[in-house]
Amino acid sequence: MSHLNPKPKDHPLIVNGILSGLYNELIECKKCPRIVGFREKIAKEKRKQYLNWNYWGKPIPGYGDINARILLVGLAPAAHGGNRTARVFTGDKSADFLIDSLYAAGLTNQPHSTSLDDGLIMNDIFMTPILKCVPPQDKPKAEELNNCSNYFQTELKFLKNVKIILALGKIGFDGCLKYFQTKYDIKKKDFPFGHNVNYHMPDKKILWGCYHPSPRNVNTGRMNKDMMLNVLNRIKKKL
Ligand code: SF4
Repeated sequence: MSHLNPKPKDHPLIVNGILSGLYNELIECKKCPRIVGFREKIAKEKRKQYLNWNYWGKPIPGYGDINARILLVGLAPAAHGGNRTARVFTGDKSADFLIDSLYAAGLTNQPHSTSLDDGLIMNDIFMTPILKCVPPQDKPKAEELNNCSNYFQTELKFLKNVKIILALGKIGFDGCLKYFQTKYDIKKKDFPFGHNVNYHMPDKKILWGCYHPSPRNVNTGRMNKDMMLNVLNRIKKKL
């Protein structure tokens, strides 16, 4: 395969495994007209430094260890990251920060995540976005989050060993809460989002909030590597 031209056959979780049925359906999804138009426009126009790429330009599946106890939930693929490379947290600044932190915590085999064929292996952690396509300005509408929620709920059904859900950013955190609200009579106001704040949910999973490692949060000092590592190490201790 050439990583410059990612295809469904190159993504291990689309080709094989318990999530492949779901992911084959996901990558054909066109439920949100605004988002479909946006993701395809980005893929066509490209960023100057990636003109030699054939962008993925479709919804992106999750990636990692399907037997993991930690599920990491992001917001959405980055326009020139996952939307280009076909893999969540791959090929953008948030990915550089996050994967380097996961490596320092012993959760990946390497500190970088750049393309489908870069050899990244995740240990006891699986990552997925709450919204499977890139939205304009990284701001999904409520109806788009609703449209997409079924995919996340189905992923959780298959990821049977998950004990801790680490949600990066409030939108991802609220999406996870929504999943619990479909199953249990709980109120959102009882679970406010906070950095390094965690809650025991009715099914004994722990929902853990964390600031998103977006360039905006990192560049303004709201988020840094020590904070991320502190979260990851606390989670590892809790397992
Ligand atoms: S955001 Fe989700 S529901 Fe909307 S088009 Fe993408 S995959 Fe489909």
